[in-house]
Amino acid sequence: MLDYDIVIVGGGPGGLTAGLYAARANRKTVSIEKLLPGGQIANTEWVEDYPGFDLIGGAELAKKMEDHARKFGLEILDDNVIEIYNEGKFKIVKGDFETYRAKAVIVASGGQPRKLGVPGELELAGKGVSYCAICDGAFFKGVPIAVIGGGDSAVEEGIFLTKYGTRVYIIHRRDELRAAKIIQDRATKNRKIEFIWDTVVERINGTAKIESLSLKNIKTGEKSTLEVGAVFPFVGFVPNSGFFRDAIRKDSLGYIITDENMETSIKGIWAIGDVRKQLVKQVTNAVGDGTTAAVAADKYIEAWDD
Ligand code: NAP
Repeated sequence: MLDYDIVIVGGGPGGLTAGLYAARANRKTVSIEKLLPGGQIANTEWVEDYPGFDLIGGAELAKKMEDHARKFGLEILDDNVIEIYNEGKFKIVKGDFETYRAKAVIVASGGQPRKLGVPGELELAGKGVSYCAICDGAFFKGVPIAVIGGGDSAVEEGIFLTKYGTRVYIIHRRDELRAAKIIQDRATKNRKIEFIWDTVVERINGTAKIESLSLKNIKTGEKSTLEVGAVFPFVGFVPNSGFFRDAIRKDSLGYIITDENMETSIKGIWAIGDVRKQLVKQVTNAVGDGTTAAVAADKYIEAWDD
């Protein structure tokens, strides 16, 4: 069993910021991350809305955040958290490799891409179905690529994929995008992008690799087949909030509900960033949440023996 003042579940921007503040306050703090530190921005090509950096590579920003937090003494361990529960006044965080005991826990576990849930999606994962353009885009040079969704991720990643695809189809179930106007404008001007409106994917076809998509126009009912070499669904996000043994307040989609100090309904557990129910999911939010949670957790530990 490893003992800490504060265990942070996750090493994205929120977790790293919480770690920076907690370690700087001299709390023995670890961030547990199952992948590489940096979270989703590490797989984002460019970030242009993080104050102070008008344009910075996502991986570079992630590395800067990691180095900065480590400089103040944050430990970062590679483990996959499976359960969190109370043991007396302490919190136990169980990972695949280690068990951690803490006075306070900050959950910064983000989420994962929502699946389309159509036939062929699971079978062709890694054979043309991908949820990370920056990781896999280069495998699809010279073939038509489809992106599914109409939010910031779909449109931004669609623009990125024009580097590789002969054509990028953005297939959206409505006739209006949800993405921010500035991102929409860029996509509209990009001659490699073609929008397919009011349309859903019914099936992803192929055996050794993707060959085509079976589509349905939901307004006219018309069915069609689109030949593509890859498909990138960006249809939203499912929060990673399933590791609590005790009941914790969540909304119907699984987002953890906190108070204004990021504290959850379980005393001594905070939740920050994309796993938390809030209006906006931006790096800046996660960073702000991380600051608040770390300061609140520090105060909580200060009062530990009272
Ligand atoms: P999102 O905003 O929830 O958008 C999901 C998109 O997928 C929506 O257009 C939705 O359609 C569509 N969709 C959902 N389920 C579907 C299904 N089963 N079949 C087909 N389409 C489906 O998700 P996101 O784009 O991943 O963004 C998540 C959050 O991260 C947002 O808050 C976003 O602002 C933020 N983000 C920001 C940036 C940036 O600022 N640069 C970049 C990426 C993400 P409807 O529109 O019809 O609901």
